[in-house]
Amino acid sequence: MARFRQQNVAAAQWSPNGGSLGTVDLTQAKNYPFGDDVFSLAVQRQRLPKDVFKRLQRTLDEGEALDASLADAVALAMKEWALERGATHYTHMFQPLTGSTAEKHDSFYDPDSDGTTLAEFSGTELIQGEPDASSFPTGGVRATFEARGYTAWDPTSPAFILENPNGALLCIPTAFASWTGEALDYKIPLLRSMEALSHSAIRALRLLGDDQANRVFTTVGPEQEYFLIDEQFYFERPDLVTTGRTLFGAQPAKGHELDDHYFGSIPERVLAFMMDSELELARLGVPVKTRHNEVAPGQYELAPVFENSNVGSDHQQLTMQVMKRVARRYGLVCLLHEKPFAGVNGSGKHNNWSMGTDTGHNLLEPGETPADNLNFLFFCAAVIKAVNKHQGLLRASVANIGQDHRLGANEAPPAIVSIFLGADLDKIFEAMESGEGDPHTPASFLGLGASVLPPLPMHGGDRNRTSPFAFTGNKFEFRALGSSMSLAFPNTVLNTIVAEAIDEMCDGLDSNGADVAEAVAAEVKKAYSENKQVLFSGDNYEDEWHAEAKRRGLKNLHTTPDALPEVLADTTVAAMEKYEVLSRRELESRFEVWAEQYAISANIEAETTSSMARTMLLPAALRHLALVEAAGVEGLATQARSLVEEFSAAIVDLEKANIHPDGREGLDLALYARDHQLTAMAKVRLVGDRLEKIVADDLWPLPKYSEMLFIK
Ligand code: ADP
Ligand code: MG
Repeated sequence: MARFRQQNVAAAQWSPNGGSLGTVDLTQAKNYPFGDDVFSLAVQRQRLPKDVFKRLQRTLDEGEALDASLADAVALAMKEWALERGATHYTHMFQPLTGSTAEKHDSFYDPDSDGTTLAEFSGTELIQGEPDASSFPTGGVRATFEARGYTAWDPTSPAFILENPNGALLCIPTAFASWTGEALDYKIPLLRSMEALSHSAIRALRLLGDDQANRVFTTVGPEQEYFLIDEQFYFERPDLVTTGRTLFGAQPAKGHELDDHYFGSIPERVLAFMMDSELELARLGVPVKTRHNEVAPGQYELAPVFENSNVGSDHQQLTMQVMKRVARRYGLVCLLHEKPFAGVNGSGKHNNWSMGTDTGHNLLEPGETPADNLNFLFFCAAVIKAVNKHQGLLRASVANIGQDHRLGANEAPPAIVSIFLGADLDKIFEAMESGEGDPHTPASFLGLGASVLPPLPMHGGDRNRTSPFAFTGNKFEFRALGSSMSLAFPNTVLNTIVAEAIDEMCDGLDSNGADVAEAVAAEVKKAYSENKQVLFSGDNYEDEWHAEAKRRGLKNLHTTPDALPEVLADTTVAAMEKYEVLSRRELESRFEVWAEQYAISANIEAETTSSMARTMLLPAALRHLALVEAAGVEGLATQARSLVEEFSAAIVDLEKANIHPDGREGLDLALYARDHQLTAMAKVRLVGDRLEKIVADDLWPLPKYSEMLFIK
């Protein structure tokens, strides 16, 4: 069936059908539905018996172990609240190693002996669930026949209600472990790492003279990039449906050369989607804050206000789900793949990370005079030390097949992990190291030369958009996460390695014995001197940096199979085991799962490429060839014929590569997929994209980049 331009007209049409229309006046604070669907602190205070509420609070505030005897009272209150809000079912939501969230719904209603039903939800049902674990990846921790797995209620992440046009569901965030107690999810290690960091940071704070703080929370604020395209185009592309990215597609005449999209005004339909999803997220207690166009056509960003790492990570999963769901209401599909369009910017997720005390101090806040702020310099130096030591692990923590197309492409940070501090901090650390020069930078103002404009305070250092790990004022921004990723593992890694660095610096303080300020200054200087090779303030995209990084001995792990072994590096295992975040066995299981996921995804992409090439694109090319041959224009026919021949040869090569050699599995199979299947795929695509440029437009069976990216 030939394609016609009219389809594009249909795709560009939409009607404002959003849930946010016709609601009450949202400018009134009392009408804003923030947290309306959350079993929040306020709801708990109102609905729980006083002593139960207090004891539960202690679990949340002080990290005390949960007293199981509270569970019945909490379950009762939760059930009544949920039923009032129309929920008929509940689910223990968890994050298995698939990377997405899993849910199995149970009805509140049990049949009663008299033939009616009764709504039941006990404390045991709240605390513990028992989904069949055999269908989730375990990386060899459990054999398939050993199916038992448990979900355990996480009281530190509030329960909430998910609404659907046909009902509502109570969602209870949970952790997921095997019957033998190994973590089978992303939440458990994250929680363990938060405890580890709190422990180390409190130890440091005591040595630094703070006797007030009792807990330190790591915080995360993710900036989520995504694409929106019309669903008509999406469903016409088997590659998008099956793999989340386009496996074919020639470059459009207009890419993002004009830079007119970034921060441009937001198209009405897209804005309608944004407002609707933000309202839905607000009801779920996700503190969404910022929206804007991103640099690629059809690309956008959403960012919430930061929260503690656990809640922030759960909320991130929810955000991705809600965006995908709401997009469909507007005839759009939300693409979260790291590189949906070749040659066009990919999508990442900036992971803003810091540490804050229960007394309200951000440990990475430099204050007015950072040069005199030893506490700040201490924690900042610990981050530098940790990132340098575990650069490979950090790289591995953001590895997936989608990232292999993005990291090191011309818009994303390279696969080399380095830190950008900014001029002010560079100056302070350099002065501390050399003992020379004034570390202070006087506050300065930027005059704009027009007296009506206010003078602007200047920041301590410019921004460096190319850095994978940048200090941005009062937090570090780990910019290498992929757009589809869970925040949990990268943050687990960050928390653990910084906990280790803080502890090692504390050991140094302990043994120093001198005046505290002098001892701290000495530790900071030492950490800086030993690890400054990881600091880089230039352009990370330049080839020159890659050569320089190599001279410095920094790791440059290009692809996922290159990076994954870092998960089992000695330094990784030592840190993860020391803080009881992940045992060697748990690390091994993750390594296996990720290697397998890579090989499976690569294979799906390769199979999809070969089938699209053979059954969609080749026939189109043959029809076109018949057309030009019939027209008798020999020059055109020769050109078309030779491309068609090249194409069919490339397809045959890919089909051969898609037959896996015997005996390869795990990382070995991942390497095979990378070196044989993905390279054969790339060749097929290359010729396919050339064909797209010569085959008659009405014969080409796929929507083109110029349509998908620009028709909205
Ligand atoms: P930019 O990256 O342009 O500086 P923002 O200043 O808006 O953007 O911050 C980006 C993200 O960083 C937001 O999600 C914000 O909540 C988060 N953020 C700010 N402070 C912290 C912090 N202390 N810890 C973690 N995230 C933070
Ligand atoms: Mg940012």
